[in-house]
Amino acid sequence: MGFSPTPIPFPRVALMFIRFCGAASEVTGSCYYIEAGGLKFILDCGLFQGGDDQFERNTAPFPFDPSSLDFVLLSHAHIDHIGRLPLLVRGGFAKRILATHPTVDLCHILLRDSAHIQEEDAAWKIKRLRKQGEDAAWVKPLYTLADAERALSLLEGVDYDVDVPLNDNVTARWRDAGHILGSAHLEVSITEKHVVRRLVFSGDVGNRGTPILRDPTPIAEADVVLVESTYGDRLHEHRQQRAALFRQIVTQTLDRGGKVLIPSFAVGRTQEILYELNPLAERGLLDGTPVYVDSPMAVSATEIFKKHTATYDTDAAALMRSGDNPLEFPGLHLVRDVEESKALNESRQPCIIIAANGMCSAGRIKHHLKHHIGDPRNTILFVGFQAQGTLGRLIKDGAKQVRIFGEMHPVRAQVAALDGFSAHADRDGLLWWLAGFRRPPQRVFMVHGEEDVAHAFAQLVAEQKGWLTSVPKLGEEVNLHFS
Ligand SMILES: [Zn+2]
Ligand SMILES: [Zn+2]
Repeated sequence: MGFSPTPIPFPRVALMFIRFCGAASEVTGSCYYIEAGGLKFILDCGLFQGGDDQFERNTAPFPFDPSSLDFVLLSHAHIDHIGRLPLLVRGGFAKRILATHPTVDLCHILLRDSAHIQEEDAAWKIKRLRKQGEDAAWVKPLYTLADAERALSLLEGVDYDVDVPLNDNVTARWRDAGHILGSAHLEVSITEKHVVRRLVFSGDVGNRGTPILRDPTPIAEADVVLVESTYGDRLHEHRQQRAALFRQIVTQTLDRGGKVLIPSFAVGRTQEILYELNPLAERGLLDGTPVYVDSPMAVSATEIFKKHTATYDTDAAALMRSGDNPLEFPGLHLVRDVEESKALNESRQPCIIIAANGMCSAGRIKHHLKHHIGDPRNTILFVGFQAQGTLGRLIKDGAKQVRIFGEMHPVRAQVAALDGFSAHADRDGLLWWLAGFRRPPQRVFMVHGEEDVAHAFAQLVAEQKGWLTSVPKLGEEVNLHFS
């Protein structure tokens, strides 16, 4: 007796299958598996960040066969959107990875850096275990530089606003998302039986008015939308209010002889903070206090910024043309060297230190925290999102003591947070972007947000617009039939 499948009663006009493989009911690990128009592809391939089980989650097999994929389409170069690419390639993927040109350039520094961090973490763990007389042979880095290089060799740059054919039925288009250099909303059009259906993935939606970057692009047509919801339940401080608060925090800390530590992503956020510090330094408001960008990657990132001035907004483009580089001012020191970085910890002089990474889960910022978190004169100033389970989140949430490099440290430094620096649109920014759709999409999935935030945003959009919204769980699958 053979198995005979139930026949489909009516021909479907189009069909799309989506499996949510990351950033579903949480912020990190962005990855969505799609089958449509005769293709299998994923949108993003990000790293899970935060939580004791992050290593296990990242090493777990993908819920699809990497070797069966036809494409990877990337929204932007943040690690929570690209950080599992080396694992994907190790799992058998060998086809094209498409992204905008600036994203391709940024991937080269960010993925190599990520591999470097993985190798360093493993080396550190091995050292610690051996010291304790334990077996360390099982410790392996999540991935190596060689894995990252293999993934990078598959990257291919595309222009904004151009239809890129993926096969006879499917095209993809990258629209500026204004989130970081090269960031994009992805528009995938599937033509079947002369009917076009559109899948739109917001990627991370930027803030309108962010220095240097253009604004996010409203999109007119979509049948299915995946929209991020990181800040879907709150409003950011206004830019001017934020600038005033920033100035106040900085000057108060310097006045009491402390240091300001700013955990920051090397790409995007660091440049934005320099943009804010620039007028303070040039007007003498910093009193000659040195500002250190302690990140070799930030130097490389700044070079990439300079290379892609064609993607700048009009203000930044005009500044550059007039010869005033907004990313340079007196007192600014770019620290590449490790010894120089260590010397910052010994110095007692008040200063401002901007170091990666933004969530304090790795990088030089951990060393600075270790040396400065116990001194009440200092301020730890958060200017970006802190994912659950990260060291940054623990400190921001008011932990009395935290573990850094295996040792407990009391938190005596002041802790402050400025949400307005976020590279993400707030609730109203997301609603503004969604208002671009001229007719209601058939389905809207709130992704890339913590569960309660995503639900609050889903409910708000359902109430305000009457759209069918939902919050997918990790691993959830949907079959979309259009009629
Ligand atoms: Zn991002
Ligand atoms: Zn993101």
